[in-house]
Amino acid sequence: ASGYSLLRDPHHNKGLAFTERERDAHFLRGLLPPTVASQELQVKKMMHNIRQYQVPLQKYMAMMDLQERNEKLFYKLLIDNVEELLPIVYTPTVGEACQKYGSIFMRPQGLFISLKEKGKILEVLRNWPEKNIQVIVVTDGERILGLGDLGCQGMGIPVGKLSLYTALGGVRPSACLPITIDVGTNNEKLLNDEFYIGLRQRRATGQEYAELLHEFMTAVKQNYGEKVLIQFEDFANHNAFDLLAKYGTTHLVFNDDIQGTASVVLAGLVAAQKLVGGTLADHRVLFLGAGEAGTGIAELIALEISKQTNAPPEETRKKIWLVDSKGLIVSSRKESLQHFKKPWAHEHEPIRELVDAVKAIKPTVLIGTSGVGRTFTKEVIEAMASINERPIILALSNPTSQSECTADEAYRWSKGRAIFASGSPFAPVEYEGKVFVPGQANNAYIFPGFGLGLLMSGAIRVHDDMLLAASEALAAQVTQENFDKGLIYPPFTNIREISAQIAAKVACKAYELGLASRLPQPIDMVKCAESCMYSPAYRSYR
Ligand code: NAP
Ligand code: MN
Repeated sequence: ASGYSLLRDPHHNKGLAFTERERDAHFLRGLLPPTVASQELQVKKMMHNIRQYQVPLQKYMAMMDLQERNEKLFYKLLIDNVEELLPIVYTPTVGEACQKYGSIFMRPQGLFISLKEKGKILEVLRNWPEKNIQVIVVTDGERILGLGDLGCQGMGIPVGKLSLYTALGGVRPSACLPITIDVGTNNEKLLNDEFYIGLRQRRATGQEYAELLHEFMTAVKQNYGEKVLIQFEDFANHNAFDLLAKYGTTHLVFNDDIQGTASVVLAGLVAAQKLVGGTLADHRVLFLGAGEAGTGIAELIALEISKQTNAPPEETRKKIWLVDSKGLIVSSRKESLQHFKKPWAHEHEPIRELVDAVKAIKPTVLIGTSGVGRTFTKEVIEAMASINERPIILALSNPTSQSECTADEAYRWSKGRAIFASGSPFAPVEYEGKVFVPGQANNAYIFPGFGLGLLMSGAIRVHDDMLLAASEALAAQVTQENFDKGLIYPPFTNIREISAQIAAKVACKAYELGLASRLPQPIDMVKCAESCMYSPAYRSYR
């Protein structure tokens, strides 16, 4: 190939880092200025450029541009500056990027499969240049973050998630495939936007929807085999639960909004036991919000307590209560409940308001997953603090504006006694001379390591016990120093090591369950995970 095309190939381009010898050998003389720079210097320069942008979306675009020019440098930047760049390539900035995706769209970063491709999905998959795909992240754009239906513009989400699979979990970029399934959108604003890039029709539902998804799932398995991981992302909750149930027994599928969230939150609760003493079985949990996140977390907590106590889930579920938009979920409402809420309809008189539910149920843990902000009021938090010495309060709704309460409110209203974590990041809080550092229950702690564990063991199915293993592995990474600050999650700086620990535990579980296909089983799982991980260091070309 010519030097000119080498510079335009993002997988191989090194920019000024091409050495003198490489410049001679690959016809690069004259195509680059004379300086030869190290990758470290390139990182320093790019970070300097990115920090000059004030607007997060500009930083995002600079990162996307880098990804298209020099993939290794993009990942090096992301890995070395993970705390600073995670909010750029992922939530919250990626949300804004999706909203404007139509106008910032440059080159395709993933596959678009729309109703127009019905009957031809296998051919579409074959148009993608990479053949050895290990992870697919797919969305239909109906519930992007907390932003609702963004139709085809949801593509930013699979792209962003997969860049975290590589940066945090070490999956090779060429093995990652972002996909957006376009069945239309019900977003009027997009339908009327002349620059909208998706199908200009209302969402297909029912059989038409199911058929397209089925063709997709079948084509993926046919083209990439049984061991390709399909991660569902940001589907509306009715479809999310149905797809997971339907394909969980035939494909390697994972829903991050349901299962990833559950695993990361359970990890926080397991870690919090070190601060409160006792075991998970001692707790009563109350949720505000009974959708994908709420019921997913509830189910995994019940399962973990079952494992710890040998009680069946039907028993342990009784420790967990949920409030939805109509109030406390109780047995008298059972007939009218969506199926995923039914296991949580316990015997109790109806209660409308959260604060009254707190007073009646007397929870030790309060979790917000409703997407509605400012719902953990002073009264609610004071009630939690009057019931518990150390109330555990998790305000998970995103983005920041939708958080159930702020970190400051949680600490102040509980007089510094709350163990608090949130979905969106909050700065440390000073209360009566003490500094409290709120943790962030970020799904990015779990899914990259979880996926790596599946891949390295050649797992063919996801099992709930693997989610428990991931939670325990993450909880075990919280140090005394972290606990002393009130944290129930470790800092993100060591995320690659954390991912390797999670991957090892997940892979072990896959072997134990007989779901692993890669034989023989590695002896040192952590070492195996680390050695599997993609490195962003440049290779030398001879
Ligand atoms: P979802 O499936 O749409 O569920 C939302 C639930 O909240 C539904 O049960 C809904 O009630 C309930 N709800 C809505 N308004 C309410 C109100 N005013 N009072 C009480 N309940 C109300 O959404 P999801 O996927 O679970 O996500 C929910 C939130 O969790 C989002 O903000 C998301 O960003 C956040 N989240 C955070 C993390 C994390 O921190 N790692 C992970 C995932 C999700 P009905 O069922 O009655 O409609
Ligand atoms: Mn999601």
